Amino acid sequence: MRSKLIKVEKMEIVSQLAASISHEVRNPLTVVKGFIQLMKSQSVPKETQDEYMHIALEEIHRAETIINDYLTFAKPSTNKTEPLMVDQELCYVIHMLQPIAQMNGIKIEEKLQPGSIIGNAQHFRQCFLNLMKNSIEAMPNGGILTVSSTVQENGIIITVQDTGIGMTKEQISRFGEPYFSTKEKGTGLGSMVAVKLIETMNGTWQIQSEVGHGTLTTIMFPKA
Ligand code: ADP
Ligand code: MG
Repeated sequence: MRSKLIKVEKMEIVSQLAASISHEVRNPLTVVKGFIQLMKSQSVPKETQDEYMHIALEEIHRAETIINDYLTFAKPSTNKTEPLMVDQELCYVIHMLQPIAQMNGIKIEEKLQPGSIIGNAQHFRQCFLNLMKNSIEAMPNGGILTVSSTVQENGIIITVQDTGIGMTKEQISRFGEPYFSTKEKGTGLGSMVAVKLIETMNGTWQIQSEVGHGTLTTIMFPKA
């Protein structure tokens, strides 16, 4: 009975996340629609038109960022859980991020021990994409992103560590809170999505961080 209850709750987390997207993306789309309507209905001077275009493009970019925080890997019909090789999945995400890391002078170090957990590959990738992206964004002047997986007797420990700007105590305590962002164009949704997905996969997490030195996020999953 208890395990059934937990399962229902987890399904709910996932469908809540999906519902949040349409909600979140609607705002920027409304803005874009408004500006396009304005441009259509009046003879707008060139200068104002450029300004409207600029805002519309920014909003489209924002909609895209929100979708990326939630659904980079989403395909229809996949909420299934299966054994996942954490080292392979982490490698996949690292390869995806390699170009932006390189552009920002960031070296990615992998220390990946093979091991498996039970989860959904899309959720797992989304979760670590969001965490690693935060690390990359925390190192605007370059640095080192270290990703490790370690197999222990009763679980697998994954760490994502950066040499970036770090977080204050308050920022650490608000990690995972929806809409909390210190970035000019942040959504404050990436860490919330990551935390929810870790919980969906029965994982736990912990953050250690020091301003000016960097951040270490440790995630523990039960072994498959
Ligand atoms: P966003 O990245 O859009 O700001 P997130 O939910 O992904 O939203 O992150 C929330 C906030 O947590 C960030 O704005 C930042 O202040 C802080 N944060 C998360 N990860 C890190 C990190 N690795 N280093 C420094 N700050 C971080
Ligand atoms: Mg983020």
